[in-house]
Order: sequence, then structure tokens, then C-alpha cells
Amino acid sequence: MHDWRHFTDQALIAYFSMEIGLTAEIPTYSGGLGVLAGDTIKSAADMKLPLVAVTLLSRKGYFKQSFSSEGWQIEEPVSWKPEELLELLPGKALVTIEKRDVKVQAWLYRVKSPTGGELPVLFLDTDIPGNLPEDRQITDQLYGGDKTYRLKQEIVLGIGGARLLQILGFQVRKYHLNEGHASLLTLELLNRHRRPVEDTWDERSSWDTRLVQEKCVFTTHTPVEAGHDKFPYDLVERIMGAVVPLSLLKELGGPDELNMTMLALNLSHYVNGVAKKHGEVSQALFPGFEIHAITNGVHPFTWASLFMTALYDKYLPGWANEPELLVRIDLIPDQDIWEAHRGAKAYLFQYISEVVEGVQLDPDILTIGFARRAAPYKRSNMIFTDTERLLAIGDGKIQLVYAGKAHPNDEQGKQMIQEIKSQADYFGDRIKIVYLPNYNIDVASILIPGVDIWLNNPLRPLEASGTSGMKAALNGVPNFSVLDGWWIEGHIEGVTGWSIGPPPTETSTDVSSSDEDVEDLYNKLEKVILPLYYGDREGWINVMKSAIGKNAYYFNTHVMMRRYVTEAYLR
Ligand SMILES: *Cc1c(COP(=O)(O)O)cnc(C)c1O
Repeated sequence: MHDWRHFTDQALIAYFSMEIGLTAEIPTYSGGLGVLAGDTIKSAADMKLPLVAVTLLSRKGYFKQSFSSEGWQIEEPVSWKPEELLELLPGKALVTIEKRDVKVQAWLYRVKSPTGGELPVLFLDTDIPGNLPEDRQITDQLYGGDKTYRLKQEIVLGIGGARLLQILGFQVRKYHLNEGHASLLTLELLNRHRRPVEDTWDERSSWDTRLVQEKCVFTTHTPVEAGHDKFPYDLVERIMGAVVPLSLLKELGGPDELNMTMLALNLSHYVNGVAKKHGEVSQALFPGFEIHAITNGVHPFTWASLFMTALYDKYLPGWANEPELLVRIDLIPDQDIWEAHRGAKAYLFQYISEVVEGVQLDPDILTIGFARRAAPYKRSNMIFTDTERLLAIGDGKIQLVYAGKAHPNDEQGKQMIQEIKSQADYFGDRIKIVYLPNYNIDVASILIPGVDIWLNNPLRPLEASGTSGMKAALNGVPNFSVLDGWWIEGHIEGVTGWSIGPPPTETSTDVSSSDEDVEDLYNKLEKVILPLYYGDREGWINVMKSAIGKNAYYFNTHVMMRRYVTEAYLR
């Protein structure tokens, strides 16, 4: 194993994220936030950007999903062996939790790009002899446990991560906080940059917030007030102690509770939302801060199916590291696009027949894909609002493939899954419906390219960006989606795909109503999408090509990272 010290030769961007999803073998992610982080790092490696990523080891992963015979979600810990995939680095940092010293160590994963780029990812771990048994479990469970557990994790991530980087000799030029979970690192930096009290007017001005701001970039991902991490100050005092004086902490993190978003907002010189609309919504949530927008992306090489990859390699060589080349999609003959898509569809159907007993889908039927976390705002069951109408429209003409996990504490999400599975029984062979178990990066990469359209109908404005639709576009799968998140920027009606429901209002944070959306979904499916799919193959392939040439060429993490570099990191 060659040395890792060369990573410390130059000053790096330190990218902090509670979850990172690089491959299905490293199950330290739950959904879009983690997969985005993984894609970000992969593009940074392709582009040879100077970056180190920091996250938690999550020894028990998120969870492995299966279903009971009643269609109820079953969760099991994921067993994976960090020592088989990662290298333990020497050196340990100490953090204070409940007045105890807790040791933190890091495991290294090297993200290697075909371009020769290589980036380190550090997975923080407290399962170290000498730590109390309860402290050894802090880095076990992603999004498990209560507020106390979460706060301990955030201490390890933010403070432990910053300290360990220093101990290992990493030089950091900017800290990028991917969501507020790592905000506590700003307190560590405040302490590091503190001026001696005798040089200043008073105690407060010894804390140099400007210097910390210059070092930090913050990306918010949450479009509703309730979604932001908050901790009562008595809990913070008990668990974390006084890292900085309480009066200063309240000034920076909010008067009533420690709000991790507020803390990051106050201590970052550059703040952004993850789509234009989300930037506006965040600006309305946090007046007084300047909030920019950099729209998310997906990593081209990871998310193009083998079938599309072969096609792009043939006609648009170099596309994977210069995805802008996809703008020249018209160089590819229609027939080749169609055959590549048929390949991806057959591959998905083969997979389905292997994992779901007795299900054989028909490759000639329009197949609708829907997969994402089974959170209530995503409304995965919306298409079943009027089952008779759906049957009238789709009998023998559509098939549905679903996947997605509900958070273990989310009863409503689990009920949605159960409902979809019971709809599968109701519709039987007339509209075949499959719910694939254990949605993860591997399932996503088989499922998304293999369907004909990608359905997304979240409640506006709750989809900050959404990225699975970008993975679809990259594979020539048009989006059929509510106008929220990235789709507001990618949608051209009938050209790149189709909208569901009304256009977005400027900065409204009120959630939309369902009736209009349902009506529009049925109408368009019946009158526009099905006739085009079955009656005008050339017209359909045109939409597929526009999804690639007008969406995928732009909504990828290469373009996104070029923006972070020029608009955030170099400022
Ligand atoms: C891309 C991806 C997501 C995010 O999908 P959204 O549509 O943005 O919610 C979640 N989980 C997995 C496994 C993914 O690959």
C-alpha cells in the first residue's frame, strides 16, 4: 500500500458531509445527500481538484431493507467490514463529550479516477479500545438514535474531523460544509483563530468570526424550517461543554436553540442552495444572509448505463470527463439510442425477475420508474389517487417499477410502501407494479436507465433539487415531474420531458395542493405521453435525445464543481 502522505503536500478543500455514498459496498449513506457527496468527490477526482472529504464511518450503515409478507418494511443492520475496503490511518484526535475525552480515528478510502486523479476520503470512527462502550457506538448508525446521539455524532464529525485533519498534517484552505451537520467545526476554527484577550478591547472581540467566515463555504439542502438540525442549549452544555462562551454561541447559533444552519450561515462567507428555486426559498427562510444557488449534478461515468456508455464512447469520445460533449447528441443515430435503451430495459427486467419472485415485465410496454426515499412529501402513492381512472388510462399500456426505503421511525413512509405493494395485488396483470427491495446505488444504477419515463411528484417546494431525475436524463429517460428543484431549470415541455401541475410561484414556502397535480398527471399520461410512446417512435426518441443533449450535458457534477471552484472556493 503506497503512502498517503502525499495528500498533505498541498492545501486542500476539506469537504465535510454526514453521509457519503461512493459505492454500494460502503453503505454510509441514506439517500440523495450522500450520493451527491459521493458524486461530488468523484468529479473532483476526475478533475484532479485538491480536495479531501470527511464523513462518519457508520459501521452499521443505514439499514438493509426487506419486506414482510404483509408488505411492511423490515430493517436489518448492514454488515460490512471497513478493514477490507479502507486503510486505518495513524493518529487519533480527542473530543470532549460529557466531560470525557473520546478518541477519534480515521479510515482512508482512495477515490481513483480513470484520469489518474486520486482523492482521499476519511471515515471517522470512535470504536477504539479505551473509549467507553457507549462512545464506541457513536459512529455506528447513520441517522439512528435520538437528539443526544445525533449531537455526539456532530461533535465527532465537525470538531473531531477538523482536529484529525490537523493532526494528520492536512493543510486546509477552505472547509465546505455539505449541509449543517458539520457546523460545529466552525467552533473549533473560532478557537484556533482566537486572539489573545490582552490585545483586544474585550472578550467578545477576541473571537475572530471574520477569519472563520473566510475559511468556510456552506451548502444548505433543506427547504423547510423544521428540517434544520436544532439542539436545546442545556443539552449542548451537558454533552459538548462550553467550547465557546454561551453568549457567543447564542449570538451565532440562535437565541433559543442551537440551530446548526444558523451557525453555518453566520460563519461562512459563501452560502448556497442546491437549485435556483431552492436558493430563493432559502433566501426567504433566512433573510439577512446572501444565499446563492449552485444546482446539483450527478457523476456522468457512474450513472450512465453500460449501454449508454458504449454509445457515448463511440460517438462522443471524452464525454465522461467533458460531459458538455453530450450537447452533440444528434450525432448519434436514433436507432442506436433506441437499441441501447432496450438493452438497459432488458437488463432491468432480468434483474427484476431474479429478485422479485414470479414477475416478468413486458419490454414493449411503457414502463414508469419511481424510486427515492419513501418520505411522505415525495408522495410515491399519488398515481393511485383514483385507481379506476388509472386503470382506464393504463390497462395493458403501462407498468410501474418502484424502490425506496422509509426511515425506520417513519410510520407514514412505511404505510406508503405497504399501500403500493397492495396496489400491485389489486392491479394484477392489468398494470404490473413491482416494488424492488433495498434501494441503493446498485439498484438505482440498474433501475433508472431501464425505465421509459422517470416520475417525480413531490410536494412543492420540498424538493430542494432532486438528482435521480438527472440520472434518468443521462440515460435518455425523460422526466415527468412536478416543477420543483432542478426540474424547473431542466424542463422544456414536450422537449426534454413533461411537467406535472402548475408552474412554481416565486418564493412561496407554502406547500402545494395535490388535486391539480393528480389531474395533470392523469391527463398528460393519457393524452400526451402514451400516444407519443406508442404512436410516434421518432418523436419519442427526440425527447430522449433532448433529455441527454439539453439536460444531462449540464446537470452533472463536473459542471457543478467548476461552479463551486469559481464561485465559492476561489472567493
Ligand atoms: C440518486 C439517489 C437518490 C436521490 O434521489 P432523489 O430523486 O433526488 O430523491 C437517493 N437514493 C439513491 C440510492 C440514489 O442513487
